[in-house]
Amino acid sequence: MPDAFTDHLFDTPSAAESSLAAYTTLRLGGPAGTLTTALHADEAVETVRAASAAGRPVLVLAGGSNVVIGDAGFPGETLLLRTSGIEVVAEDPRSVVARVAAGETWDDFVRYAVTNGWSGVECLSGIPGSAGATPIQNVGAYGQEVAHTIEAVRAYDRIADEIRVMTPVECAFGYRTSVFKHSDRYLVLSVDFRLERSGSSAPIRYAELARSLGGEAGDRVPLALARDTVLKLRAGKGMVLDPEDRDTWSVGSFFTNPVIPEDLFRTLGEMPHWPAGAGPAGESLVKLPAAWLIEQAGFPKGFAGEGVAISGKHTLALTNRGAGTTAALLDLARVIRDGVRARFGVELHPEPVLVNCEF
Ligand SMILES: Cc1cc2nc3c(=O)[nH]c(=O)nc-3n(C[C@H](O)[C@H](O)[C@H](O)COP(=O)(O)OP(=O)(O)OC[C@H]3O[C@@H](n4cnc5c(N)ncnc54)[C@H](O)[C@@H]3O)c2cc1C
Repeated sequence: MPDAFTDHLFDTPSAAESSLAAYTTLRLGGPAGTLTTALHADEAVETVRAASAAGRPVLVLAGGSNVVIGDAGFPGETLLLRTSGIEVVAEDPRSVVARVAAGETWDDFVRYAVTNGWSGVECLSGIPGSAGATPIQNVGAYGQEVAHTIEAVRAYDRIADEIRVMTPVECAFGYRTSVFKHSDRYLVLSVDFRLERSGSSAPIRYAELARSLGGEAGDRVPLALARDTVLKLRAGKGMVLDPEDRDTWSVGSFFTNPVIPEDLFRTLGEMPHWPAGAGPAGESLVKLPAAWLIEQAGFPKGFAGEGVAISGKHTLALTNRGAGTTAALLDLARVIRDGVRARFGVELHPEPVLVNCEF
């Protein structure tokens, strides 16, 4: 299997090969039915439109860093999104609006923003994948999420068969979710980010990052320093892709942090937690650290299944050690989920999108 990640997150079209494992950071997933690479937005739309007309299911795949694809692969049309480009579409003395093509590598855009003195995405440095996938699960890390800076998402709507410009409200961003997640209605074509013209980061919200910067929450620091510090923190946790390091052969966090009603939380005993706003009926919600729950339930870093294991650097990352299968990865995930449920009565939910496989 060619390693699509040796030099760059994304392969080139000439590297096209039928096993979808070659296009995922887990390096798991069976064969593709058909595989089409789109270098331009109109090619991407045409591919999806033609598949819809033929009644064929479509899998949009960009960086492959948030998908778990079944060992049987995906029998329909797989669209490899490889569009690129960053363009300033509006500016004023305080801010710019940067339009980023969906297939653009996310971290290339973050580096570009930092280099240009555009503030607002620096704490999202080092996250693998494409810019167009960031609205799908409202990508977030170290106190920032893309919902803070997205101004508009341009998407092809398969049902209406038209291109729409969607506002943040229409995107319905939430914690690791949006209107786009678990839906194949929209093909994101580009994303507009409004970024502040400033050499300083947005106020640091994340305590661990503030500590590493030698300051406290609320501080603003030079953009490049924020980026470098985030990259170092992430690398120490195996959260920056490195083909030599199997602790990074993952989808990042496999589980989201559970959000539960405060009433339930009070029955659980002492544990770390954060306030998480109010639920639909106005009830107070609390977010629990999934990594802590997993460790306390008896699953340490390195805990292994068949050719798969919890990362040696981060309890939330389930990794392929080289000889893994999707079936083995999901078995390991179920053992962990069941263990946490038995110990705490709290349910863990997977963060990645599962394609042709079940959890
Ligand atoms: C080491 C590592 C660390 C990570 N750290 C973080 C983190 O800190 N925070 C975080 O939020 N995530 C993190 N992730 C998860 C992942 O990087 C992000 O979710 C990323 O945005 C996925 O981008 P992608 O291009 O790889 O998407 P893919 O994996 O290719 O696709 C993911 C889903 O989005 C859909 N999709 C992708 N592009 C489009 C499009 N243009 N239009 C419509 N649908 C589309 C796909 O169909 C699929 O359902 C991490 C992953 C890894 C491997």
